[in-house]
Amino acid sequence: MEFRDLKTQYLQHKDAIDSAMQDVACNAQFIGGEPVRRLEEDLAAYVGMKHCISCANGTDALQLALMAWGVGEGDAVFIPDFTFFSTAEVVPWVGAVPVFVDVDGDTFNMSPCALEEAVKNVIKEGRLTPKVVIAVDLFGQPADYAAIRKITEQYGMWLLEDGAQGFAGRIGDRRACSFGDITTTSFFPAKPLGCYGDGGAVFTDHDEWAELIRSYKVHGKGEDKYDNVRIGMNSRLDTLQAAILIEKLKFLDEEIKHCNEGAEIYTSLLRGIVKTPMVLPGYYSSWAQYTVQFERKEQREQAILKLKDAGIPSMIYYRKPLHGQKAFAGLLSGKAVCPVTEEICDTCLSLPMHPYLKGKEIEMVCDRVKENI
Ligand SMILES: *Cc1c(COP(=O)(O)O)cnc(C)c1O
Repeated sequence: MEFRDLKTQYLQHKDAIDSAMQDVACNAQFIGGEPVRRLEEDLAAYVGMKHCISCANGTDALQLALMAWGVGEGDAVFIPDFTFFSTAEVVPWVGAVPVFVDVDGDTFNMSPCALEEAVKNVIKEGRLTPKVVIAVDLFGQPADYAAIRKITEQYGMWLLEDGAQGFAGRIGDRRACSFGDITTTSFFPAKPLGCYGDGGAVFTDHDEWAELIRSYKVHGKGEDKYDNVRIGMNSRLDTLQAAILIEKLKFLDEEIKHCNEGAEIYTSLLRGIVKTPMVLPGYYSSWAQYTVQFERKEQREQAILKLKDAGIPSMIYYRKPLHGQKAFAGLLSGKAVCPVTEEICDTCLSLPMHPYLKGKEIEMVCDRVKENI
């Protein structure tokens, strides 16, 4: 069984993807060009933002957003303690200080209450200026943007949506990657919309920020890339990846529908046995991961072995709270208190999830999980 079956996906859409790749090879334009322009247009229309700026990966996308806002020394950036390292890594990179915020025990997304508490603490300490909140659409479910937006407005902060896992999710009719002042995503192969290598994108409605990001991603270009008006970076989505993504975007909604059907089967079989993922009313997840929680750590460790014996892969996303990562030692403002994150790290387990997973396979996974409880 595959944790995420990219081979079946390719074989099902082989003709369209092969032809798109061949076109790029025949045209022999491998950087920029029509496919990149067209993809940016398609993606902006899909998420409902005015500008889409493609770049090399989801980590660069986050960094470009912080650069466009001029975030740096003396600024506090609030981040959920339970997410992939990238979300926080970019903060010290621009010279700012990450402040880790505990997550909600049901959705695993940033807790608005904990966020407000953390902002108040930073203000009380008086050393840093609260500047940005990075909310993550963890495992495919958008964060609680109604509540988070209230807090960013009240304290005059910008909202950055890290939609690396959330692409194709929704709240009501509104798609993920449209909730932040700037939002970012990743096209790493295992993400909801993945390419055949690395890729990422930044979205915004704001003309000036979009222009700045277009400059920063091409060596701080002015008139062109040989006129350099600021220190930037080199962050491109190559033409081949763009051509593949144009094709994959066409069947993405259908794929996410299948993931939702799979998630329903999982939840009906596992409810009451482990803690199944909670999708809030009106929310639609893109199921980047299907993550359950055991009561005790030992149960999880046993389940991993039972699954492995049956040839079923499972993953722990994430084993460590960000505030406990060695890389952040000495960079933190005070001591992070995130008991919910700590408990999730000890007890969570992500099970195989992809659009091509069969009902029978889900039953097999659930049978193995049940054996330990
Ligand atoms: C994958 C991921 C990223 C980084 O994306 P890359 O393309 O691998 O750089 C950032 N944030 C989250 C939440 C992710 O899952």
